[in-house]
Amino acid sequence: MSGDNQWTKKTFTLNTGAKIPAVGLGTWQSKPNEVRKAVAAALKAGYRHIDTALAYGNEHEVGQGIKDSGVPREEIWVTTKLDNPWHKHVEEGITSSLKSLEMDYVDLYLIHWPSSSDPADLKKHLPDWDYIKTWKEMEKVAASGRAKNIGVSNFSIRHIEALEKDAEVKTVPAVNQVELHPNCPSPKLIDFCASKGIHCTAYSCLGSTNSPLANDKTLAKMAESKKLSVAQVLLVWGLQRGTSVIPKSVTESRIQDNFKLDGVSLTDDEMKQLSSLPDRFKVCGDAWLPVKVFFGEDE
Ligand code: NDP
Repeated sequence: MSGDNQWTKKTFTLNTGAKIPAVGLGTWQSKPNEVRKAVAAALKAGYRHIDTALAYGNEHEVGQGIKDSGVPREEIWVTTKLDNPWHKHVEEGITSSLKSLEMDYVDLYLIHWPSSSDPADLKKHLPDWDYIKTWKEMEKVAASGRAKNIGVSNFSIRHIEALEKDAEVKTVPAVNQVELHPNCPSPKLIDFCASKGIHCTAYSCLGSTNSPLANDKTLAKMAESKKLSVAQVLLVWGLQRGTSVIPKSVTESRIQDNFKLDGVSLTDDEMKQLSSLPDRFKVCGDAWLPVKVFFGEDE
């Protein structure tokens, strides 16, 4: 593994040729008053990848945190996402995000969910619109240069296949950002995406808020034996599977801890142990959406 596990400097090359930093900072549930400091602290600790979304309501503060850090914009990978009620209004969605972030472009723009919700009633799906139409609008954003790369999030195999089959779709998503941790390893989805040249980013890579993985005995024992934190073990597990990871924290010491990964590796046996935990579940389900997006066939 020597040279291979300098995780904080590592990038993954996307199908566009762009290089996404392997470790980024997540910002879901990071409140506006705390996320600004968290982003600046992460960038000062060496992170060069920040993940946000219109739906998180914190893009403005994320942008301010980037400015506070003093790190030049062009050295930072910024991902944001199109919110479900905005599917029919992609142009307005990216304009709104860039305005909040105070930026001319994002490095990656994702369809947050394959669900075109009715802005007038979020429990309803728009009758005349779907994520395939949204994707064609995303292609226009990429052509305009306001998103250097475009991708998807929470897409199952069947969603990607549907994009592929549409005669008017020109672009393969660069990234699929999905929930991935040892209770939700989704090897079929990762293999499928790899076969199509789509990079996977692991969200909720620590198991999210009040993570059930914090009490997992296999993980705790492994972390102790390696003199690592549970979070560090989880992040390296994700990185060794070829996925980028975007741990969220608003706690400076954890932000720093989550970036102390260089030189850390897991053996094949350790990888296997974590990939075979008996409990399988998602922490981010689809029950709140007007359509089902997870079908259990990608696990
Ligand atoms: P994570 O798996 O990153 O876990 C975050 C939780 O772990 C927080 O409660 C945080 O607490 C805690 N934590 C962080 N570091 C440590 C540590 N070293 N030790 C102990 N606890 C720690 O959860 P998320 O669900 O937030 O996922 C990460 C990111 O992925 C999101 O923030 C978002 O950017 C993205 N995401 C994308 C989704 C999508 O639909 N595309 C859906 C969900 C997430 P604290 O902050 O208090 O330190």
